Amino acid sequence: MLLKEDIPFESKQALGNELFEGSPKRVLLSNWLEEFIQIWLKVHIFFLALGNYKSFKKTFEVLKIFQEFKKKAFGRDGKRKFTSKNGKYWFGIHLPPFPSKSFDKYILTELHRYVPHKSPINAFQQVNFAITTKCPMRCEHCFEWDNLNLPETFSLKQLQQITKVFQNQGLGHISLSGGEPMIRFEEMLKLIENSDKSTQWWMITSGFNLNEEKATRLKKAGATGVIVSIDHYKPLVHNKFRGHKDAFLHGVKAAISAGNAGLLVAISVCITKENINKEFLMKYMGMARELGVDFVQWLEPKAEGHYRNKDVELNKDQIQIMEEVFEELSHNPELRDFPPVMYYGYYQRRVGCFSGGKSSFYVDAVGMVHSCPFCHSADFKITDWLEMPSISRKEVSKCELY
Ligand code: SF4
Repeated sequence: MLLKEDIPFESKQALGNELFEGSPKRVLLSNWLEEFIQIWLKVHIFFLALGNYKSFKKTFEVLKIFQEFKKKAFGRDGKRKFTSKNGKYWFGIHLPPFPSKSFDKYILTELHRYVPHKSPINAFQQVNFAITTKCPMRCEHCFEWDNLNLPETFSLKQLQQITKVFQNQGLGHISLSGGEPMIRFEEMLKLIENSDKSTQWWMITSGFNLNEEKATRLKKAGATGVIVSIDHYKPLVHNKFRGHKDAFLHGVKAAISAGNAGLLVAISVCITKENINKEFLMKYMGMARELGVDFVQWLEPKAEGHYRNKDVELNKDQIQIMEEVFEELSHNPELRDFPPVMYYGYYQRRVGCFSGGKSSFYVDAVGMVHSCPFCHSADFKITDWLEMPSISRKEVSKCELY
């Protein structure tokens, strides 16, 4: 079967070995240690729930629902592949590391959905905030296409005020995006530096100008990780997709620099109709392994932004291919050396949308709030919303897709 083959990838040959030299190595734990951490996690969540509900009955009740949710969302036995970095264990891009106080708060927030309790929870598990309209790329799938390169909406002070309000209400994770957030690098550093670090701060970037020096400064400021978009293992295809002649070079350099600086690194790929086959997926994963990244994010194209009114969405058979490969990568022990894959389409088709204001939402580069980056509901301006008393605040539109 194709999945079990060690498929070479072509970018390395295409560029020579130099570009990939110096890439970090993702830590591969022994089987028994991985098993031990999975058991430790279960025991930890059990005592966290018990300490919170102070009732065996409620604890068993909530954990049973939670386990069912995990099985449905993540497939098979519900276990999630994880990555080990900086002495902690990371079960997803949007989850704080285990063990940590932020992880406990994240779990208590999830348990509260099933059996309510009175412990502090996050009002928002995840917010995606586009902090700039500026971008040097011209991507085929850009969901911010209509807002690109308009005058900036928010000053640094406003960005600080807005993120502080989120944090005061409990914010697990924030992804700073754009446009290209590296364009506002110095301001972004100040934003992260002066914030509360109980929130995980990530940046979503094309990799533009993210070198080792800047990655080290980001890490020092308190950032957790970066998501770098690399949409193909062939440099020229990626460059064409991104509308920039050096996009691949920027992306690969950024992933390596960020990994070496101690940041968590995910690479993100939009899987198009042209690419959707097992060979592409596994070759891409081969590149991810070579780059030593901690996660890979698979996105399905949506007819929004630059893709609006275009026939880009995958059909059932194409989605099935992705889902089969995802399950193998997530659960087949022979493929454990590949980084964990985050595939939201898979989860959400089974348990409903994670976004749509339920646990996250999207603030675009002109300050409008949407269900998520791919479902543009343009509900209201974030600044108007923050001024309303929390009791009478408008709700973010629910997702219509899942
Ligand atoms: S998708 Fe991102 S990198 Fe590409 S043009 Fe849009 S904002 Fe820029």
